[in-house]
Amino acid sequence: MNKGFVLWFTGLSGSGKSTIADRVKEELLKKNIPIEQLDGDEVREHLTRDLGFSKEDRDENIRRIAFVAKLLSRNKVGIIASFISPYEDIRKEVRDSVTNFIEIYVNAPLEVCEARDVKGLYKKARAGEIKNFTGISDPYEEPKNPEIELKTDKSSIEECVKQVIHYLKEVYQLDL
Ligand code: ADP
Repeated sequence: MNKGFVLWFTGLSGSGKSTIADRVKEELLKKNIPIEQLDGDEVREHLTRDLGFSKEDRDENIRRIAFVAKLLSRNKVGIIASFISPYEDIRKEVRDSVTNFIEIYVNAPLEVCEARDVKGLYKKARAGEIKNFTGISDPYEEPKNPEIELKTDKSSIEECVKQVIHYLKEVYQLDL
């Protein structure tokens, strides 16, 4: 039987959230698990276009996403959400408001994320062109007790995907 869940990928920009989330989604769709994916850039373009990157706006961004996740997950949809979501208090709020919250800390050192600089954002942030950039000019509060921690500087993409699928199967007992 399907059960709803929320896979919440949190971590620095460039840590690997979207890459792993996309692959996990593929794997779950192959097993006919209904999935909806919520991703930072797309959400900010539509649902939260009016918001910036102050703490207040970031919190409101996450609250709206949590609301959508809650509606879907209670109807047995698996949610794959990837957001930097740097603040502990708001992640806790999401945990308390949705059904079956699974926090995934996508952990890579800042130097590694910065060297990857997938979107060229770190370079801009270092040059002072982007304000409130997580890791550079804004804090990232590490999850203290995530259900899953992925060390993307040490494990390959496929190993990280396997770790998530293994959790869903063995710990969460999803029928995969
Ligand atoms: P985020 O969504 O966290 O901003 P992205 O997924 O966009 O990060 O970028 C992560 C980059 O790191 C990609 O270019 C990806 O190929 C690379 N990478 C290297 N090793 C890993 C790994 N083990 N897991 C995820 N991404 C990895």
